[in-house]
Amino acid sequence: MIGEKELVKLVKSSDTKIVLIVMDGVGDIPDKSGKTALEQAKTPNMDKLAAEGNLGFTLPIDWGITPGSGPSHLALFGYDPLEHEIGRGVLEALGIGLKLGPNDLAARANFATRDDKGIITDRRAGRISSEVNQKLCEKLSRNLEAIDGVTVKVYPGKEHRFVAVFSGEGLYDNLMDADPEETGKMEKFVEALDEKSARSADIANKFIKEVQQVLKDDHPANTCLLRGLAKAPGITGFGDLFGLRACAIASYPMYKGLSRLVGMEVIEGLNTLEDEVEELKKQYNNYDFFYLHVKKTDSYGEDGNRPSKVKTIEEFDKLVPGITGLKPDVICITSDHSTPTDIKGHSWHPNPILIKGPHMRKDGACAFDESECLKGAYGTMFSKDVMQILMAQAGRLKKFGA
Ligand code: ZN
Repeated sequence: MIGEKELVKLVKSSDTKIVLIVMDGVGDIPDKSGKTALEQAKTPNMDKLAAEGNLGFTLPIDWGITPGSGPSHLALFGYDPLEHEIGRGVLEALGIGLKLGPNDLAARANFATRDDKGIITDRRAGRISSEVNQKLCEKLSRNLEAIDGVTVKVYPGKEHRFVAVFSGEGLYDNLMDADPEETGKMEKFVEALDEKSARSADIANKFIKEVQQVLKDDHPANTCLLRGLAKAPGITGFGDLFGLRACAIASYPMYKGLSRLVGMEVIEGLNTLEDEVEELKKQYNNYDFFYLHVKKTDSYGEDGNRPSKVKTIEEFDKLVPGITGLKPDVICITSDHSTPTDIKGHSWHPNPILIKGPHMRKDGACAFDESECLKGAYGTMFSKDVMQILMAQAGRLKKFGA
């Protein structure tokens, strides 16, 4: 990547439109069938795009590095993921619509169950309902007081999940999670990894003790785990960086949060893939750039459920003509990282990418899958460079130098 400072100098305005589709975790490796999920799926519409466009692979972070969805999305949005680290707590907070300021430290929290000895017997408090969660957060809000001059607010999420936001001067986030990570283990408290974060750890731990006190009669939700404690990083807005009016079409909180963090407008209230594509059509005249997220390819990858992953790919393919019918100048389909069903988790394997713009070379690839991507013109590139190619194809970058 040329770097943010150089890039902004090259950006020029245009009325072209770019659609970036992220099929989360779609990249795969062959299972016992000898094929990947994309190779098994019947995808005539994406294959047609592949024949017209160029293929390749992307590396989210670096060779051999397995990424989380946060950094790998950030890279696709054109930011160096190593320069802009975003904590899980921040993503979760943004995902439920909170706006974080420079004095806020956010944590992704779980209601959990602890026994009298301090052993965590259920990390999800029996997956309490979202309604119970709401009541518990209200009870905490009524009873929580400022801790050493730092206010704490709690916000309910889905089921057992909530977000805690600590607000005050002098908070730092070089902190370890308060989570034993397995049931049947002793509860953990937040640990600071450097001296200046020690006070923040202390405040977070006082908060956990307060939660235990306030919820002592609310078994199974009688404690909480705190993870991904983080402050929001300063980041150049997507609009300022690329000169694009950008819209995020996603249904899961974290992806909405990430989009909001980089300054995209986020559409709320979408649940299904059909909803998402309909919304894209509705918003098409209002923006220059659309990020559309397909979540279930990753979820089924994590479950090791190959048939459902293939089915999700096929279902999405059926919606593709609704998108190409809008005639965007540039369309890109890729994944943020691979989630092979045999691994049941994210992996380091490069991701398939398809780019179709008005100025393509022929690369002979004629289907959207990993084997065809090997023939692709783009070879293997870093995800953070993808936006530059999309911008160039969209006629939105000036020449560098004379
Ligand atoms: Zn992902």
